Amino acid sequence: RSSLEDMPVLPLAESFALTAAYNADSFPDKVNLGQGVYRDENSRPWVLPSVRSAEERLHKQNLNHEYLPITGHSPFNQKARQLIFGRELANHQNIRTIQTVAGTGANHLAALFCARYVRPKNVFISDPSWDNHYSIWETAGPDITQKLYPYYDAVARSFNFEGTMAELEDSAEENDIVVLHPCAHNPTGHDPTHDQWRKIAEIVGRKRLFVVFDSAYQGFASGDPDADAWAIRNFYSTFFGYSSPLSKNPPAGMLVCQSLSKNFGLYGERIGALHLITHPSVSAEGAYSHLIRLVRSEISCPALFGARIVDTIWSDSELRTHWEKDVKTMALRIQGVRVALKSELEKINTKGDWSHITRQIGMFSYTGLSKSQVQLLREVHHVYMLDNGRMSMSGLNGKNIGYVARAIKDVIG
Ligand code: PMP
Repeated sequence: RSSLEDMPVLPLAESFALTAAYNADSFPDKVNLGQGVYRDENSRPWVLPSVRSAEERLHKQNLNHEYLPITGHSPFNQKARQLIFGRELANHQNIRTIQTVAGTGANHLAALFCARYVRPKNVFISDPSWDNHYSIWETAGPDITQKLYPYYDAVARSFNFEGTMAELEDSAEENDIVVLHPCAHNPTGHDPTHDQWRKIAEIVGRKRLFVVFDSAYQGFASGDPDADAWAIRNFYSTFFGYSSPLSKNPPAGMLVCQSLSKNFGLYGERIGALHLITHPSVSAEGAYSHLIRLVRSEISCPALFGARIVDTIWSDSELRTHWEKDVKTMALRIQGVRVALKSELEKINTKGDWSHITRQIGMFSYTGLSKSQVQLLREVHHVYMLDNGRMSMSGLNGKNIGYVARAIKDVIG
């Protein structure tokens, strides 16, 4: 038991503390490259035009504000499944979906479910990863040992495939959890190739590991949400598909966490889903009912607005085409600022090789700047990014790229 007055004051999570510091900064040319949120060419939040249209349609329907079922808005669950698994697989009965409080809620529920019912010895999380992965697994599964797989090769500035494989080969035991980012890895921006994914699947199958995919950036890696779901669909069809060759001893199941925060720009609406996958030959009912029980005691039932928006867009082919265009707009703008920042840094002869900026994909660049350089950027130049050198690319635009490049050159010396 702790005495309340003796509890130490814990620091605020870094990305939230950074946003607060940025907001409090009165310097006119400050630049926010911290939180993973999309910004338009004028550094402003962008409500997707497809989302705006859906809002207008909903408004005209004079809807009520009743409770949802514990499992969420079922038309939304169906659309969320289609988005991740494709239309064909989305009706398979061995994929069960529950609506969550965004991607964070999906991760939390996944961890809670695993801690109680999968009961692994270890959970493997990438090093580095979204920092909340470590916190979530610590909160929900305090008895599970966290092991880090070396995801990033700092010298080659790429995905450390050999290191990841070696760690899983040497340390993972049957029934252990592996948390995988299916696309646009946060924070590094480096993803496995298809061939590497197949090899990761081979280890997962052979060792009977339990995969938790965390999909937060579907659409941001390639601009095409289907292409970005390839790894998840591949794992599904390898182990759990109706027509998969039944291996004798397949992994027990799989979970897929899905955030719609970024690809619908619905950050504050907290919309997401968790998909539970079991073998087609066994009933998913029992396991699914345990997820439902956990949700009942945590949030009773999820929130309505974001679910209605996603459903409205995905129910209408015109709106869905519009949304696909919106996703492309975001992905392409970010690709454009990558090219612009790299060429600006090269133009002013900034020391070092900056080719990784355009090799990386998704919302972020893992710049390779050190913690002290990041601090100088903040203190001297009012440019804000995470201490690990992760830069949220959409904070850049035609008006501030020159300034940021000069600031980077200055702190590198
Ligand atoms: N997973 C990853 C890898 C993320 O980067 C994020 C957002 N930063 C999330 C999950 C959760 O996002 P949200 O809860 O806002 O949907």
